[in-house]
Amino acid sequence: MAGRLLHPAIDGGVKKGNPSFSGGTLVCKCSDRPVKVRIGTNVAHNHACGCTKCWKPEGAAFSVVAVVPHGQVSVLENGDKLKVVDPSALIQRHACTVCGVHLYGPVEREHAFQGLDFIHPERFEEDGWAEPGFAAFVSSVIEGGVDPSEMDDIRARLKGLGLEPYDCLNPPLMDALATWAAKKSGALKS
Ligand SMILES: [Zn+2]
Ligand SMILES: [Zn+2]
Repeated sequence: MAGRLLHPAIDGGVKKGNPSFSGGTLVCKCSDRPVKVRIGTNVAHNHACGCTKCWKPEGAAFSVVAVVPHGQVSVLENGDKLKVVDPSALIQRHACTVCGVHLYGPVEREHAFQGLDFIHPERFEEDGWAEPGFAAFVSSVIEGGVDPSEMDDIRARLKGLGLEPYDCLNPPLMDALATWAAKKSGALKS
């Protein structure tokens, strides 16, 4: 048995990125008037995400999502099809209103991730983007409908793929969030 589909970009093994990848064009799934977004740099902090907010391909338990600086994101074509999924959310996910793909999600609010946009590198027309390095919000796939009895298998498969599973973000990102909060509160002097 093949088991549950985690994500098409990782199920067959994580494909290493090309270190010289310097950006490309994200495209939605529409055959008519696809939305195209130019990204001017490689992605950072790429990971598999089990949360229920990220866009996932059909049948996948996880998304693959990464960040780029907001200044490196520009809509090239058919931006009139984009709409923010949830204006109250931290990440302003701009989705194609026809096919549902999320093209980019800026963090505009005052936050440790302010100035970054979340994107799904699998939507690049080009190959070579930095590969995912861990799995975040793994327990949240249960909220997406995965039976809890599958979790041991899912975590073992993620580990086997070299994607350490975390139920929140990975330690470097959790530390970055806590550092930002501590500087804001004055507990840490900046
Ligand atoms: Zn579309
Ligand atoms: Zn997510």
